[in-house]
Amino acid sequence: MASEKEIKEIYENGMNILEDLTNNVQEIQEQVLEEILKRNAGTEYLSRFFPNGQADNQSFKTNVPIITYEDIKPYIDRIANGETSSILLAYRIIQFLLSTGTSGGQPKLIPMTAESFEKRMSDLLLSDLVTRKCFSGSDEGKSLYLYFIKPEMETPSGLKASFFTTFYFKTESFKNGLAKFCTSPIDTILCLDNKQSMFCQLLTGLLQRDEVVRFGSTFASVLARTIKFLEDYWRELCSNIRTGYLSDWIIDPGCKNAMSLILTRPNRELADSIQQICEDKSWEGIIVKLWPKIKYIHCIVTGSMSQYVSLLEFYGGGIPLVSPIYNSSESSFGINLKPLSKPFDVSYTFLPNTAYFEFLPVGKDGEGKAQETRTDDEPVDLANVKLGRYYEVVVTTLAGLYRYTVGDVLKVTGFYNKSPQFQFVERRNVVLSIDVDKTTEEDLSKAIMKAKLILEPLGIMLTTYSSYADTSLTPGRYVLFWELKMKGSNDLPKLDAKIMEQCCCMVEESFDFTYKSHRKVGSISALELRVVKHGTFDELMDFYVSKGVSVAQYKPPSCLKSEEAVKILNSGMVGKFFSPKTMF
Ligand code: AMP
Repeated sequence: MASEKEIKEIYENGMNILEDLTNNVQEIQEQVLEEILKRNAGTEYLSRFFPNGQADNQSFKTNVPIITYEDIKPYIDRIANGETSSILLAYRIIQFLLSTGTSGGQPKLIPMTAESFEKRMSDLLLSDLVTRKCFSGSDEGKSLYLYFIKPEMETPSGLKASFFTTFYFKTESFKNGLAKFCTSPIDTILCLDNKQSMFCQLLTGLLQRDEVVRFGSTFASVLARTIKFLEDYWRELCSNIRTGYLSDWIIDPGCKNAMSLILTRPNRELADSIQQICEDKSWEGIIVKLWPKIKYIHCIVTGSMSQYVSLLEFYGGGIPLVSPIYNSSESSFGINLKPLSKPFDVSYTFLPNTAYFEFLPVGKDGEGKAQETRTDDEPVDLANVKLGRYYEVVVTTLAGLYRYTVGDVLKVTGFYNKSPQFQFVERRNVVLSIDVDKTTEEDLSKAIMKAKLILEPLGIMLTTYSSYADTSLTPGRYVLFWELKMKGSNDLPKLDAKIMEQCCCMVEESFDFTYKSHRKVGSISALELRVVKHGTFDELMDFYVSKGVSVAQYKPPSCLKSEEAVKILNSGMVGKFFSPKTMF
């Protein structure tokens, strides 16, 4: 694990390390692959592809197939059931990581070694360093970062399996590194009850409100949940501060103990000022009002998290949103070297030392859909991707994944030195589909971003959305769920049927030629828009968390596949609207 010395080395020398990595992409990538093969070519999995024993970089590319999780799952299952991990990789697995992927299906089990964890750590530290450098003075204060864990599982072989965030928050690297700057005491982060944890983390953040210079979490979805929690609990938080007593439903020993060291006396003055701010009917800019020294909000806001951008801009009063890193349970990919980029312009610079990366060209031009048009072209190396092209990322890691497709589609937007920078486009498997039409996560997001502009002048905010393909009727239709609220208050907006219909039309107009032609001939019915009340999507998140997903790694499902999930959103419905039948 990264020691205090290694952490210091990155903070002192990080910018030189970054220059070195990004200037030597090709060489470093070749070395990484050589090293992986030197160690692992003899494993049961890989040796099949090298019948004459020659396992060099070139024969790797010609012999080893590009795979998905399903292809490697039998090996992972064998290891989870007690066989030696050397069937897949030479180094010892310290545990499995659970991947949420799309929040929908079963989590995947991804092997992790001590070394693969260190690689991730160095990316996290480098990203933190770049962000701090960008905001002068942010070194001095504290971070109000809302972090949560989830209980670990154990495989039949006795190996643990947990979400990366859970593993990381329990390490010495976290305790000796980022945690030192956090307002949340480590015991509140490690509390298994997310509600008690959230309450105590917000309470400590409020008690230290003058020291907080950064507000954040892993993903934007966690901050959306935090703001809703604050709306529901600010009175109780103020009362704890006013009296100096912790609410008696906080029974977790770690939380109680940590809070006893911080909530040491009644503080009427502080409670009064927080109350005054929260009593304001409009919560616009509440984050900077409560924590006036905050310089930026730090969380991933790209991909499926982009739906929370308006909400964070509204509550954050316009302070910068910094989307720091692109990673997954399988590997770390890249970091954002321009922390001040607007959320929709964020690109991640790939760092060549974490894994060996290849890119499958994907046709996304014109009416092409990433789903349909993975081209026949061979995958290209990191150093050979072309500006403006779309690719699906394929990764080979030190921890037992060989030419593994992660399922993410990326676009090349530029280069830092020789290292390509990518914009996250969409998850490949997230798609609305009826008949031959396929509407991707990106298509949907772009269409909704346009349609919500109709509501903005009316002071109505779209806080989050989802969708599903309703094929219970023939012809089927796409159904959107929108959670709406008034900007100035939590009141339900008055929904004008004409305006909502316009939103439906705008979404359909923005969809592609295939969709429109199906609508025209009547093989897809008019789009339906269901408006749900404030807080309904929190229930959806609770549902997925109860199914095993970690709050810290929750990805809002843009397209629902589960009937139970649809039922939850339906239960919060306050209005439904349709596009005109004869729109096209
Ligand atoms: P998990 O393995 O559960 O952490 O999920 C990883 C997935 O989250 C990735 O494959 C992406 O689809 C998504 N993801 C992670 N980081 C980002 C990011 N910066 N922007 C957009 N999506 C991301």
